[in-house]
Amino acid sequence: MSWRLGIVEVGVIPRLPLNLYLPDASPDVLIDPPCYCYLASDGERNVIIDSGPDRARAVAEGLEIVGDTSELLVAGLRAWGVGSADVDCIVHTHLHHDHMQNDLMFPNAVVRVQRAEVAWATGPDCGRFYFGIPELVTALGDRLELLDGDAELFPGLRVVLNAGHTPGHQSVIVDSTEDRVCLCGDIVSLFANVEVVGSICPNMRETKDFLARARVAGWEMIPSHDPKLREHRWYVQPAG
Ligand SMILES: [Zn+2]
Repeated sequence: MSWRLGIVEVGVIPRLPLNLYLPDASPDVLIDPPCYCYLASDGERNVIIDSGPDRARAVAEGLEIVGDTSELLVAGLRAWGVGSADVDCIVHTHLHHDHMQNDLMFPNAVVRVQRAEVAWATGPDCGRFYFGIPELVTALGDRLELLDGDAELFPGLRVVLNAGHTPGHQSVIVDSTEDRVCLCGDIVSLFANVEVVGSICPNMRETKDFLARARVAGWEMIPSHDPKLREHRWYVQPAG
């Protein structure tokens, strides 16, 4: 089965120290990493991998996001030829706010995430990048499907658990029309993180194990926050 892929930019996190990603970078170097949602369609089903942040909600929580997040996601989908009601499934790499705030725009989508991630995200030690999860779980009801480890979600589209960034983080492996692709999530935020592990992945062993597995598999690695994805062949230009 071959999937067509798209990359939609939905906002930017301003002024993040580069050394969170690359430990050897000077502490004064700041970057503005984009947030992306990934679209996958096999002609029958439309899947979104990560639904992106919500600017207003982030600001209310004391975090900065620049850009018209939900409008950009809708515009990107439209440019891709898909309406909100046509989205069948949302897969979350993890539940940090910049990956999950727009699920409820898609009334027909089943949402799939690791059970371990939901448990962590609703626990006492999850930290400030998680918010709105209990409300989302309630709002989704039986549209939320919890996964326990690696799973094939559709022919040619599967998830692999890799708890390097958060305890229930997963990447999505897709047989695309061109290549076998890994939509990495925050296990690989920048292209350089295919080789270098930053403090953003506190579980260094899990991260390195996964990167070694990816090298052996030969997947095309698509990072979660690299500005260079704006030049990627799958980058969806917003409809004018
Ligand atoms: Zn994250």
